[in-house]
Amino acid sequence: MRRELVLLPNGGIVIDTPGMRELGMWHDSEGLDRSFADVESYFGACRFADCTHTSEPGCAVQEAIERGDLSPERWMSYRKLKVEAEYAEDRGEYLRCKEQKFKAIKRSSRADKKR
Ligand SMILES: [Zn+2]
Repeated sequence: MRRELVLLPNGGIVIDTPGMRELGMWHDSEGLDRSFADVESYFGACRFADCTHTSEPGCAVQEAIERGDLSPERWMSYRKLKVEAEYAEDRGEYLRCKEQKFKAIKRSSRADKKR
């Protein structure tokens, strides 16, 4: 399935896939953060500060899953709920992010031509 990852300024991640929007909505992201504190405790240990915890080398989440410290099912349910929370609260922000990303790409390709 084609996926697009978008990082939000507040540290959230949006995974844009067809079908994701059909999952149940989750409106209380604070409650989500509390209930998945064990999952999020790994985030700070990733090699990259902007780690998306998908396929980066040195990702503490992926390592925890490999070690068996974190169950893949729990990680998947965290990601699904997180994605829904971002959609519910930050749909506008998400679209702005996508737009900015696109503009940045256009800007950098223009700069290349000048050189
Ligand atoms: Zn990571």
